Amino acid sequence: MTHPAQPKASHFINGAYVEDTSGTPIPVVYAASGEQIAVVHAATPAIVEQALASGKAAQKAWARMTGTERGRILRRAADIIRARNHELSVLETYDTGKPLQETLVADATSGADALEYFGGLAGSLTGEHIPLGEDWVYTIREALGLCVGIGAWNYPTQIACWKGAPALACGNTMVFKPSEATPLCALKVAEILHEAGLPAGVFNVVQGMGEVGGALVTDPRVDKVSLTGSAPTGKKVYAAAAEGMKHVTMELGGKSPMIIFDDADIENAVGGAINGNFYSSGQVCSNGTRVFVQKGIKEKFLARLAERTGNAVIGDPMDEATSFGPMVNENQMNIVLGYIEKGKAEGARLICGGARCDMPGWYLQPTVFADVTDGMTIAREEIFGPVMSVLDFETEEEVVARANDTEFGLSAGVFTKDFTRAHRVIGNLEAGSCFINSYNDAPVEAPFGGVKASGVGRENSKEAIKHYSQVKSVYVRMGDVEAAF
Ligand code: NAD
Repeated sequence: MTHPAQPKASHFINGAYVEDTSGTPIPVVYAASGEQIAVVHAATPAIVEQALASGKAAQKAWARMTGTERGRILRRAADIIRARNHELSVLETYDTGKPLQETLVADATSGADALEYFGGLAGSLTGEHIPLGEDWVYTIREALGLCVGIGAWNYPTQIACWKGAPALACGNTMVFKPSEATPLCALKVAEILHEAGLPAGVFNVVQGMGEVGGALVTDPRVDKVSLTGSAPTGKKVYAAAAEGMKHVTMELGGKSPMIIFDDADIENAVGGAINGNFYSSGQVCSNGTRVFVQKGIKEKFLARLAERTGNAVIGDPMDEATSFGPMVNENQMNIVLGYIEKGKAEGARLICGGARCDMPGWYLQPTVFADVTDGMTIAREEIFGPVMSVLDFETEEEVVARANDTEFGLSAGVFTKDFTRAHRVIGNLEAGSCFINSYNDAPVEAPFGGVKASGVGRENSKEAIKHYSQVKSVYVRMGDVEAAF
């Protein structure tokens, strides 16, 4: 019998599901059991061509609709997603292995927020009027054209919506390629957008690995590329896009600092560290994986952290009581296990976890290392798993310098009751998305994105509009043209 997660077909192009079984099969394995639940096929060159051609053909008419009309469709899609949240959350859990406890509140709902927010903004995207005496200039905020979205595997529904919603609101069309590790959810997003009235060709989904992504990025019809992925992939995709002078948004990896001062509320700081390291089993780009704790509260913090980490309910992701699920796949589990071994070998003190769970599926224990020093591998490289590094510090000046001593700059957090210090420290940290006495909140109203090797551009908020539109400036002369001859 076909598993309920098996999609109707691998791709969604020009308003319909499309299959081409001559593409390389991509098995979808449920992370909690290791069983294959679905299979899709990578896009062949013919499928890539169909998707790009349909996105290109649909763009002008879509951009000519009023913003209010476009927005209405996006908001209708948001309503459908909310109404089907449970079913979509179950699919997200099958796709990623993340517990239903999380997916019910963080995935389809976050996608719906983006569709609702950008749907609401669509009708208000205007240029400006610039008076120049009798003459004037007016500006037109135009769509870029055909956009390519490429996703990572940790938030497949959210990433499709965070890219699709602002792109479509601005009058662009999109070809979206989900991660080969989580190919299912973006198809549902496309299906629902069309159910909501989206014209055929405006949002297309094709499957595949890096080479399909590469074919999309280098196509001359594509005007913009938005990638969520690792920094090494980001460098390749950015370079390929630059060849064609395309616009880019790069949402890449991080090794973000969380700084906890002596005067912090310890329960809140521990809660922030848990959210910023163990949510989605640590598979979150903005995680605060370098937890700097001021020396005075270090042992108290560690004791409480170990105690609360012990309360994680590790188990069946479909059981809503489960608060900690498996890694997305065996490969990622092994990568993270490698980092855990490096942490041990390089002399970090294991506080809790440190091993695979003795059960089927790709489960790791939530792991905390203390006495981590700046040079250790686990303090320098993005692990993308449930491994928290706790580092000690003494002074504010010292911790800010150490926090910034990384190629990355996605997020940063500070826990303190001293608000002057909180704002001063945040002001000095090199990061795009920051938190005071909190960690990893990502409302659609707030800009999200990184600096340094963590990326270029911003998603969410009104900032995203700037990254999916361009301004045409028009000079209007009311009098005669004066010329020298
Ligand atoms: P990845 O870089 O391996 O892959 C990302 C996507 O790029 C996939 O769809 C992949 O098929 C595609 N790809 C790979 N090579 C390509 C190429 N040459 N041309 C075009 N496309 C190509 O990342 P991943 O392992 O799927 O995801 C984890 C990474 O994503 C982590 O580094 C994480 O921090 C990052 N991430 C960032 C954000 C953010 O918003 N900043 C959010 C989630 C994940």
